[in-house]
Amino acid sequence: MKYNIAVIEGDGIGPDIVTEAIKVLNTVGEKFNHKFEYEYVLMGGCAIDKEGTPLPEATLDVCKKSDAVLLGAVGGPKWDDPDSKVRPEQGLLGLRNGLKLYCNLRPAVLYAPLKNESPLKDEIVKNGIDICIVRELTGGIYFGERGTEVIDGVKSAYDTERYNVNEIRRIAKIAFETAMKRNKKLTSVDKANILDSSKLWRSIVNEMAKDYPEVEVNHLYVDNTAMQLVKDPTQFDVIVTSNMFGDILSDEASMVTGSIGMLPSASLGDGTLGVYEPIHGSAPDIAGMGIANPLATILSTAMMLRHSFSLEKEAKIIENAVLNVLEDGYRTGDIMTEGKTKVGTVEMGDLVCKKIKEGK
Ligand code: NAD
Repeated sequence: MKYNIAVIEGDGIGPDIVTEAIKVLNTVGEKFNHKFEYEYVLMGGCAIDKEGTPLPEATLDVCKKSDAVLLGAVGGPKWDDPDSKVRPEQGLLGLRNGLKLYCNLRPAVLYAPLKNESPLKDEIVKNGIDICIVRELTGGIYFGERGTEVIDGVKSAYDTERYNVNEIRRIAKIAFETAMKRNKKLTSVDKANILDSSKLWRSIVNEMAKDYPEVEVNHLYVDNTAMQLVKDPTQFDVIVTSNMFGDILSDEASMVTGSIGMLPSASLGDGTLGVYEPIHGSAPDIAGMGIANPLATILSTAMMLRHSFSLEKEAKIIENAVLNVLEDGYRTGDIMTEGKTKVGTVEMGDLVCKKIKEGK
């Protein structure tokens, strides 16, 4: 089977980590007889430099026609002027909107061999962490009505959190289905003791729970969730929440795992097309040094195989290969600890490919 993948290397370490991810995809392709074809397109700072815009039309067109999009990271000090009209991250928002991607899946996984990376006590994380956060991506306060005005001589500003039932239903559906594929436990996070939008959110999740009787559903307020994530993150399986709460909680969850270079993500919509990228940025401080950790991007390709191509066995073999390389003691600088073997970006990619070739 042939799959067309649009590739956005982006800025900073983007090209280095994407190269390793493609090496891994090709290894999987050879092993399982799939053909992955790649079309490279520009987005972010490099697109601003070449085309004057962070998301050239041609890029969006190629992405729309592809089966999946692999993205490195965008941005860097060169384009960081907050007053600038064109900024690299506008490319990210434009891409998500252009492809109608309303769901962000962010696994927060702490692999047992990396448990020392977590800032939490060993007794809390000794068995690792495995949470999947399902964040609504195109609604809520980030997209609601906003404004700044002067009332009675006093300047004020407002933003609006608004969700309609369709927006809640479609994200909850992905969350329930994700839970069905995992441990069948779903935590819906809101602030229903105060916000009307949260009351609606909660009622829709409860209504939909009837269609998924096998999924155990509970509701938590966002402030309590923030506490529980550090008190006992192992209690969570799938978390579903709104755009802003998800933004904050997914960053907190990733810090709890302690290794930003390890975490992949997927942005999904109604069809099978998705954007797959590491959660970290373009790490300009280490760009071009050959020391970036490619594993988050490699794990993003596993998500691509699972969610866009329904290739579960192939996804698993990548995830197992990563785990095996860590168990063998190989580490890039960001996750290095005493007694382990330090490797660079390319070597880490090679090690994962070797494990895939050996894997069943
Ligand atoms: P960052 O994630 O790029 O870097 C934070 C720290 O983590 C740095 O010390 C960096 O060296 C390290 N790091 C990140 N990824 C790593 C990896 N794979 N291997 C080893 N170390 C890694 O965050 P930042 O410094 O706040 O942002 C840098 C640029 O990236 C900014 O321009 C920002 O706007 C952009 N950014 C882009 C995205 C994206 O493309 N989705 C996300 C976040 C930030």
